[in-house]
Amino acid sequence: MTAAAHAATHSGRTADLLVIGGGIHGCSAALHAALRGMSVIVLEKDSVGRHASGVNAGGVRRLGRHYAEVPISQHSMQIWYGINDLLDDDCGFQIAPQIKVAETQAELNALAARAADLNALGFDHEVMLDRAQLRALLPAVADHALGGLAALQDGFAQPYQTTFAFQRKAAALGVRFHEGCAAGAIRQEGGDWVVETPQGAFRAAKLLNAAGAWGGVLAQSLGEPAPVQAIAPMMIVTNRLPHFCDAVVGATGRPLSFKQMPNGTVVIGGGRRGRADAARNLSEILFPELRLTAQTAADLFPVMRGANIIRSWSGVEACMPDEIPVIGPSARHAGLYHAFGFSAHGFQMGPGVGDILAGLIATGGTNAPLAPFSIARFAA
Ligand SMILES: Cc1cc2nc3c(=O)[nH]c(=O)nc-3n(C[C@H](O)[C@H](O)[C@H](O)COP(=O)(O)OP(=O)(O)OC[C@H]3O[C@@H](n4cnc5c(N)ncnc54)[C@H](O)[C@@H]3O)c2cc1C
Repeated sequence: MTAAAHAATHSGRTADLLVIGGGIHGCSAALHAALRGMSVIVLEKDSVGRHASGVNAGGVRRLGRHYAEVPISQHSMQIWYGINDLLDDDCGFQIAPQIKVAETQAELNALAARAADLNALGFDHEVMLDRAQLRALLPAVADHALGGLAALQDGFAQPYQTTFAFQRKAAALGVRFHEGCAAGAIRQEGGDWVVETPQGAFRAAKLLNAAGAWGGVLAQSLGEPAPVQAIAPMMIVTNRLPHFCDAVVGATGRPLSFKQMPNGTVVIGGGRRGRADAARNLSEILFPELRLTAQTAADLFPVMRGANIIRSWSGVEACMPDEIPVIGPSARHAGLYHAFGFSAHGFQMGPGVGDILAGLIATGGTNAPLAPFSIARFAA
């Protein structure tokens, strides 16, 4: 045993599981592992919730997901419905319809085909809305909207509140969080993983890479390259408007997602991107792109035409080429697991993925359909 590893063993810096990354996925996996009786240490290079998990739009959305994600998203949704019981914190979670509006007949046909596909797969949480049904749910929608697709029992939550609630509950169960503690060199020693950090070496038999946009760098350092692109989804908040919308609304043919908050402000996001620089921990707003988002919102909801933008921000997020995450065991090393690359829709999946991974790590197996998310898909 090296001197550093010896120090880790005798200084409270050993555990059953080391988690790298204090976003929602790291915190959720840590909590669920602790619930299964494991000792857990979370290493976070900045502070918990500092990146995508703290600054996202809070959409708790199953609507429109890649088919491979649907079973995991469904599992996560069941946890969201009981989030207060799990975390002793309601996370600001509210059930609200998520609706995709069709602006053309081709978009409406595509939504109907998707609803039929999901039905054939045994899922009935997405339902078609005709013109009248759409207007019953969205009275302020523009005249040209033809219908839509809705997940009526989806919702939204508060991102920081949620990520901190996972951290707090995990800490209450004994999980040790080390912030300002970047994982550096990683090696295997005597069947354990040893991770060097500015706060010394940490050691555990199991290691989870939940490092978000930095997950690819970590995977690469462990001999498993994964092509993570750092992206910067952008958000806008408007001034307060008279109440006009109770749903979370998206467009079908162009990027948009928004919801109106109880105080009347409208929080708009949904896909247009700024510039991300993960190496420097930075994201930057691109104003021409922001203008397009605002224009789409105003096209779909004329009531928003006079709104003013009072605030905007973006955050660094990990995107995979196929826009689905890497979740599951390493294809190369026993005791190593990955959960990164959530491609701008990982907030909703946090509770479920953490539960599934904790089960996998604790028992060595899972019934969850993880094959499409294997890091091995990038090996070629
Ligand atoms: C503006 C915006 C809007 C979004 N809207 C939604 C939405 O409405 N619904 C939805 O479902 N998803 C949404 N997302 C996506 C969602 O936020 C992310 O998919 C999710 O938060 C990813 O969580 P994570 O834990 O994997 O990553 P992160 O939150 O990025 O956490 C990873 C952590 O790992 C740490 N880390 C990295 N390297 C190291 C290291 N070497 N050592 C120690 N720590 C390290 C980082 O500092 C970071 O804190 C949005 C994202 C953004 C940016």
